[in-house]
Amino acid sequence: MPLTALDIYKILPKTNCGECGVPTCLAFAMQLATKKASIDACPYASDDAKATLAGAAAPPIRLVACGPQDRRIELGKETVLFRHEETFYHPPAIAVRVRTDQPPDELRAAFDRVSALDFERVGQTLRIEIVALEDATGEAERFAAAAREADAAGLALLLMSDAPAALDAAASAVAASRPILYAATADNWEAMAQLAKRHNCPLAVRGRNLNELADLTARIAALGMTDLILDSGSRTHAATLADLTQIRRLALRKMFRPLGYPALAFVTANGPLDQVVEGTAYICKYAALLVTPELEPWQALALVTARQNIYTDPQKPIQVEPGVHTVGSPDTDSPVLVTTNFSLTYFTVEADTEASRMPAWVVVVNTEGQSVMTAWAADKFNAESIARAVTDSGIAERVAHRRLVIPGGVAAISGKLEELCGWQVMVGPRESAGIPAFMRTQWRQVAAAAS
Ligand code: SF4
Repeated sequence: MPLTALDIYKILPKTNCGECGVPTCLAFAMQLATKKASIDACPYASDDAKATLAGAAAPPIRLVACGPQDRRIELGKETVLFRHEETFYHPPAIAVRVRTDQPPDELRAAFDRVSALDFERVGQTLRIEIVALEDATGEAERFAAAAREADAAGLALLLMSDAPAALDAAASAVAASRPILYAATADNWEAMAQLAKRHNCPLAVRGRNLNELADLTARIAALGMTDLILDSGSRTHAATLADLTQIRRLALRKMFRPLGYPALAFVTANGPLDQVVEGTAYICKYAALLVTPELEPWQALALVTARQNIYTDPQKPIQVEPGVHTVGSPDTDSPVLVTTNFSLTYFTVEADTEASRMPAWVVVVNTEGQSVMTAWAADKFNAESIARAVTDSGIAERVAHRRLVIPGGVAAISGKLEELCGWQVMVGPRESAGIPAFMRTQWRQVAAAAS
C-alpha cells in the first residue's frame, strides 16, 4: 500500500527547519506523498526513512531480467489483476524441460528442437525462449557442458539441480547469459542465495506452501538477493492456479513484499492436449515463467498464440502500416485488393491471397486497427475512406487496370465507391478463405474480358 502523508511524517525529523523549501515537516510529507518532492531535499532524513520511502516506491511485483544480453527476457512488473483494467506488460517466458542424462548428440538434437519452435503470426515472431535444463545425474561437468551447449544454441537457461556444486559449475559456464538458478528451498537457501549473488543470476525459490515461500524470500532478500522467482511448490492444476492468483492478489492489493516477485508454474498434465490447456490457464493467470515438458510444434504454437493474445494491449490492436502491400511479385495486371490495417485481418487476407498463387497488390486502409465489419460499423471503412486510401496509396501508377476488390461484407458501398474513385469495384468473398476461388473464377473472367 502506498504511504500516506501521515505515515511519511512519522519518519521525518519533525524539526520544521524549513531547509527543504516548505515551512514544516508535515507540508514536506504531503509533497512526498503526492510525489511532488524528493526525500533528498531534506538534509536530515535518516537512512531508514530513505529506505522506507524507496521501498514504498518500488513496483509491487519486481521486474526480473534473465537470458543473454542481446535477447534479454523480462519477467514480472505487472500492475493489474485483470487485463481490461490496463494491460499486461511482460509476456511469460516458456521453458522446455530437457534432461542431461542423454547422449550428447541427442541432447544437441533436443536443443535444436526447442530452437526450432518459432513462428510468424500477424507480423510478429513468437518463440520458445528458454531451456529448463535438468541435472539428472548430479555430475557437475556434464551439467556445465550441457549448459554451454544450450547457450551456444542461442537459448536462455533455467538451470535445475539439487546439487549446489553442479549448479555452481553450470552457472559459472554460462553466467554471462544470466541463467535462472533453480531452486532455493528451506534446506539450502543460504548456499543458493550466495551462489546466485556470486554469479549475478536470478534465483528461483521453492516453498512447500505460500507461507514457507514468503518466509524464504524475506530471508533471502535480507541477504541482498532480490532478483527472485517464486515457485509455490504446487504441482496440481487447481492448486497451482490458486497459488498464482493468491500471489498476484497479495502483491498488488496488499503490497505484500515477500511475494512481490514474478512466479513460475510447471505444466504437469500427461496428455499433449491437457498440457496445452494447463499451460494456457497459467498464461492467463498469472505465471511469469511456464515450465513445460518437451513440446510438439502444434503445442508450442497454441501456447505462444494464447500468450500473444493475452499480452496484447486491449486498447491498442496490433496494426500494420496503411498503404500498398504486395503479395508475391505483382505486376501492372495483378489484382488490387482492399482491406483494413487490423493485423489479424491483414495477415489472414495475405495468407489466403498467397494460397491463390496469384501475385496481388493489397491497399490497406487505416481503420485504427479495426477489422472489416467493426470498422464498417464504426464508419471507418466506408466509400470515402477507401477512395481516399486508393488515391493516397498511388496504386493507380502501379497497375494498368482500374479494378478494385473489396471484402464481400461491405458490398453495400460498392456503388458509392465506384462514383468516388472511378474504379470498377468487384465484390470479393465475405470470408478471406474464399479468395483463392474468387481469383480463379471471377477475377480471371473479368480480367480476360477486359483484355
Ligand atoms: S528539511 Fe527536513 S527536517 Fe527540515 S522541515 Fe523539511 S522535512 Fe522537516
